[in-house]
Amino acid sequence: MELTRRSFLKLSGATAAAATLTGVGLRKAIAAPVEPLRIKYTKEVPTICTYCGVGCGIICSVQDGIVVNAEGDPGHPINEGSLCSKGSSIFNASYIFEEKGKPIPNPKRMTKVLYRAPGASDYEEKDWNWALDEIAKRIKDTRDRTLVKTVDVGGRQVTVNRTNAINWLGSAWCTGEENYLFHKMCRAMGVINLDHCARL
Ligand code: SF4
Repeated sequence: MELTRRSFLKLSGATAAAATLTGVGLRKAIAAPVEPLRIKYTKEVPTICTYCGVGCGIICSVQDGIVVNAEGDPGHPINEGSLCSKGSSIFNASYIFEEKGKPIPNPKRMTKVLYRAPGASDYEEKDWNWALDEIAKRIKDTRDRTLVKTVDVGGRQVTVNRTNAINWLGSAWCTGEENYLFHKMCRAMGVINLDHCARL
């Protein structure tokens, strides 16, 4: 479009009017009552996201022992304040807000052992000691039944002491030290199929 003196003045007038209107809208918005920040009376506690091996920094805002907000730590060298969709939702791993905005424990968070027996359609609650004993029993049974001690390599028996019947998946919710110990334990049992949700 060719810009004549007249069209330039018209355009300037329209821009000034829009700016005035925007200013009025802004002033109204600013004058509107503002709810106090959720983090106003909280203590900031820095932590690390537990979802994956990237290790983004998060600041938790804690009030009376309850986390009321969690967001990316702008001072953290890895994420500089940003979080992916998983990290952004980490607050809901523990809490949700009820209708009046009060944080309450997330009712969908699993806090009990649920066991579904082979062929059963429903889960039943079990205690942790039962679950840990059962897991240990089944791992040992599977390992003992399937352990391959040697394989034939060109007519020569080579010791391998391995089982292909167990697959171990590490967790980014565990610390590096815990995953290291899982790894050592698996190797000691002859488990050779090891992986991790963050491929660590
Ligand atoms: S899950 Fe997302 S926010 Fe959490 S450490 Fe990994 S990349 Fe960062």
